[in-house]
Amino acid sequence: MDTQKSRREFLLMLASLPAAFVVGAQAAGPSSSTQRATAAPGGATGSQPFRLPPLPYSYDALEPFIDAKTMELHHTKHHAAYVDNLNKALSQHPELAARGLESLLGDLTQVPEDIRQTVRNHGGGHWNHTFFWSLMTPGGAKVPAGKLAQALKSEFGEIDTFKKQFEQAGTKHFGSGWVWLVVSREKKLAIMTTPNQDTPLAAGAKPVLGNDVWEHAYYLKYQNRRGEYLAAWWNVLNWDIAEKNFLAALNEGSSRLDCTVKRHRTLAASRRS
Ligand code: MN
Repeated sequence: MDTQKSRREFLLMLASLPAAFVVGAQAAGPSSSTQRATAAPGGATGSQPFRLPPLPYSYDALEPFIDAKTMELHHTKHHAAYVDNLNKALSQHPELAARGLESLLGDLTQVPEDIRQTVRNHGGGHWNHTFFWSLMTPGGAKVPAGKLAQALKSEFGEIDTFKKQFEQAGTKHFGSGWVWLVVSREKKLAIMTTPNQDTPLAAGAKPVLGNDVWEHAYYLKYQNRRGEYLAAWWNVLNWDIAEKNFLAALNEGSSRLDCTVKRHRTLAASRRS
């Protein structure tokens, strides 16, 4: 299948989300504004502000490391349910969607209490999975390069040491959740885990990498062997996107948060007028 073409379609879908889902959108480059404009008519409606993005590759593209059946169920059942439930919750408070999902998840106190837990769980689920899909690719670079590689070496010594610590954190995490490499508030690389569908955004951290350690992500192929899944996952990681995530996290407000920032500017401008 044409991976480049599906990646473009994936980015197009991301760009068409009105409540700015910007994960990976920076990879669209300078043409993204054109794509956004052309995508708008087919975009989401007010009652369904969020949509399930198509994957940028086929369900079997990450074989043998992640099997096709797991990918299909994970995308069409699990991720789809997060999107549906998020939209249902937001239909109670339709004005919230315009603030953008990253903004809501970054400060859940701005979400009314009656839907706060649902936005936390299902909004977090939508954000985490969209980030996760964008982070994988068949046949990606086997090792990080550029500034991220330098930063990993300076923080962890060797890339392999980082990988082992990331795998250990994911393996030891009790129950469902995620393991992350983030840029912390202090602008340092750190490994963290979150329970359920909590995002690092709520802790003020910016994700560079994240792996899903819910059993639904690996059980069909790996059963109880979560550590084996975590070790195999490096084979499908897209280090180019990780590098972009890292640079964007360092330059807060520029690339990664682009859409959200623009939206805030627009709102501020409309208030002034
Ligand atoms: Mn999942």
